[in-house]
Amino acid sequence: ESITVGELALRLKATVAEVIKKLMQNGVFASINDEIDFDTASLVAMEFHAKVEKEVEVTIEEQIIDDSEDKEEDLETRAPVVVVMGHVDHGKTSLLDAIRHTNVTSSEAGGITQHIGAYQVKVNDRMVTFLDTPGHEAFTTMRARGAMATDIAVLVVAADDGVMPQTIEAIHHAKAAKVNIIVAVNKIDKPGANPQMVMEQLTKYGIVPEEWGGNVPCIPVSAKTGTGLNDLLEMILLVADMKELKANPNRPAKGVIIEARLDKGRGPIATMLVQNGTLHQGDIVVAGTSVGRVRAMTNESGREITSAKPSVPVEVTGLDSVPAGGDTFNAVSDERLARELVEQRRTAKKEEKFNARTKVTLDNLFEQMQLGDMKELQLIVKADVQGSVEAVTQSLEKISNDEVRVNVIHGAVGAISESDVMLAAASNAIIVGFNVRPDPVAEENAKRDGVDIRLYRVIYDCIQEIESAMKGMLDPKY
Ligand code: GDP
Repeated sequence: ESITVGELALRLKATVAEVIKKLMQNGVFASINDEIDFDTASLVAMEFHAKVEKEVEVTIEEQIIDDSEDKEEDLETRAPVVVVMGHVDHGKTSLLDAIRHTNVTSSEAGGITQHIGAYQVKVNDRMVTFLDTPGHEAFTTMRARGAMATDIAVLVVAADDGVMPQTIEAIHHAKAAKVNIIVAVNKIDKPGANPQMVMEQLTKYGIVPEEWGGNVPCIPVSAKTGTGLNDLLEMILLVADMKELKANPNRPAKGVIIEARLDKGRGPIATMLVQNGTLHQGDIVVAGTSVGRVRAMTNESGREITSAKPSVPVEVTGLDSVPAGGDTFNAVSDERLARELVEQRRTAKKEEKFNARTKVTLDNLFEQMQLGDMKELQLIVKADVQGSVEAVTQSLEKISNDEVRVNVIHGAVGAISESDVMLAAASNAIIVGFNVRPDPVAEENAKRDGVDIRLYRVIYDCIQEIESAMKGMLDPKY
């Protein structure tokens, strides 16, 4: 139960120097990376009119086994988890439906297909899990809540339409999440289809097709006629093999909430994707600020099951409230501790402290660098014209130094949008705008999520400010 001086300063929203000074006044001599105990931290916090609470999380976390503790011999291959992204009307929903309908396992045939937010299909006796909320918004919202649910992104591009603004966004969202991309060039049944054009356009965004010497598989498909769907599924398995996706089924379950809702008769219902371990009926589960015992579990065919292994999505009843999509969940053994933890999270949530991870801003950049946890400064660039986007991106990436690499994860023309803020929140990025403004929703979300938005008119001002921030010499703003 200790905290470093730097971490304490961040949490108190004070500078490291101020904290060190207070410590000295209390007779404690410590520097930024030194750990101080709970009582000392409380003493300092009091001087900043803040309160330090012992976290029950510490005790309950002792029950939660870290993935790194899994022994190699306990690991088994698990199904890949796949998300489908792409521009509107390029066929994401059609593709998900077509895959689902042509690959229902015979034992499941006759079951009533339910929309639970994810489903599994059988391909050559192996399973693939699809998240069936298409689009990069859902994907990045989950990531912003700390959940890394997906292994592979299928990027759908219509062969008669080509790369469009949301295609580019999807590429940047997938790359920021470091998931593997497989391109599905869709609608090849259409007379105007031109897959070559699509692949050519994609290379401009760093997506180089395998057949041209790159590392991104591009599969021509038609969601309408079913052409190429098997090739796509087999490619997904091939990529999964390369990634050596494994999990340990013999441990308490952990995973992520895909979606959740309140049912009048059955109470809170959540779709949980198990990521490690096995979830059993009767398990005590903590999910975000919800807790409960797993009462009933059903799969996407509406059949009741008693356990769910890694990569299996299940609909679960028994929680005492509705968790949020993207919340992580853990099966734990001590019900009293679980309830205590959830109580504490609920209080923290009221005070907006739960989930509020410290986000990087130009003001705290230097401190975060000193703490040693900032190796890359992620930026999103929005501007009024394409020329500025490119010029700014180039200039910014040049100011990388030995300690920090400056990395523009997304750049585009237009106002700063909700989707930009989501990407920034999920990737711990700062947004810079040139002669553009955030739209009202984006502005509000940025404030809520602590995302730093910096607006400039001149490129030089931006470069200088970021350079100063990297040296810890930014003029304070009043
Ligand atoms: P989404 O917005 O990306 O989910 O796109 P949808 O799946 O709703 O598809 C948009 C439109 O394209 C619909 O009218 C589909 O019927 C049509 N569509 C989707 N895939 C194909 C395809 O492979 N061939 C043809 N001809 N039409 C398709």
